[in-house]
Amino acid sequence: MGETIKLPEQEMTLGTTSTKHLLEVHNLRTYFHTAAGVAKAVDGVSFSLDRGKTLAIVGESGSGKSVTASSLMRLLAKTGKIESGSITFDGIDIVHASENKLRELRGKDISMIFQDPMTALDPVFKVGSQMVENIRIHESCDEHEARKRAIEMLRLVGIPEPEALMEAYPYELSGGMCQRVMIAMAMSCNPKFIIADEPTTALDVTVQAQVLALLAGLQDSLDTAILLITHNLGIVWQMADDVMVMYAGRTCEYAPMEELYSNPLHPYTWGLLDSMPKLSDTSKTDLKTIPGVPPDLRLTGTCCNFYNRCPYACEKCKHEVPPLVEVAPAHYVACHRQNGSNVLKREGEI
Ligand code: SF4
Repeated sequence: MGETIKLPEQEMTLGTTSTKHLLEVHNLRTYFHTAAGVAKAVDGVSFSLDRGKTLAIVGESGSGKSVTASSLMRLLAKTGKIESGSITFDGIDIVHASENKLRELRGKDISMIFQDPMTALDPVFKVGSQMVENIRIHESCDEHEARKRAIEMLRLVGIPEPEALMEAYPYELSGGMCQRVMIAMAMSCNPKFIIADEPTTALDVTVQAQVLALLAGLQDSLDTAILLITHNLGIVWQMADDVMVMYAGRTCEYAPMEELYSNPLHPYTWGLLDSMPKLSDTSKTDLKTIPGVPPDLRLTGTCCNFYNRCPYACEKCKHEVPPLVEVAPAHYVACHRQNGSNVLKREGEI
């Protein structure tokens, strides 16, 4: 492990090494103002992403990964607000951009693949008309050209008879077909950046593998940057260049993918990895779980958010928020007990 360097959180941009990133997020805070109080859904998150690269954000439900993604497109519920921090996409200040500018970007330079394609597509319009409309909004082309482009994209995502599928309604398609249509729509204007929010949740494993291979292939040919939101560490292993582990609105670990799997350091990351089934494990014992529940997001920010579930918690964890510290090149961890000489060993390790 390298020398411990403590960086001021506000000035960190984690991620790949190029000096000008396609996407840069600094110290993003997105809160929800509800009648019951202010929920700190995203509480000081920083990262960056370059063209052709994939950053995976992992964490359980409520960790802030989807709100982080929605913040990047400023698609928040009425009660949600970006309180502070900056989001710069291709030189554009997203936090202060006008609604017109955002509309221009959405679906053109930034696309989103949603969790549930069945509900993301409009059930009362044919697939073809939805795709053609999306292309015509963002590209200066006539209906004939847009239709040609839509058919081309459907063919590219492996639809055998795209012309026939253009005439179908979403409810006539299987989950896998719908997801392919969503990917074709997302890619149809050659976006620079795709946000894929649990893109394979609704799919069986065979279709899941096909969809991931498709995304990776399209990324290679179009040099698209992908932000992959998932709780499935197997998918991360297949697709990501870098991984950010989130818990209760904060980053607890951030590292290149292989480094994270070979040398995970945060107790929450250990919990996630331990809860994955392993083909080599023939012991027939129950899978491990992380006991307890995530904290109330209205009450976070005064201690380590993982404190109430962490088997390694000490007195300091109860009173101080752990800073995100670089403990090896490009490997950052927010844990009092992985900082400096006082390093933890994962249970079961010698
Ligand atoms: Fe556990 Fe403390 Fe580390 Fe938080 S800071 S993960 S409570 S050891």
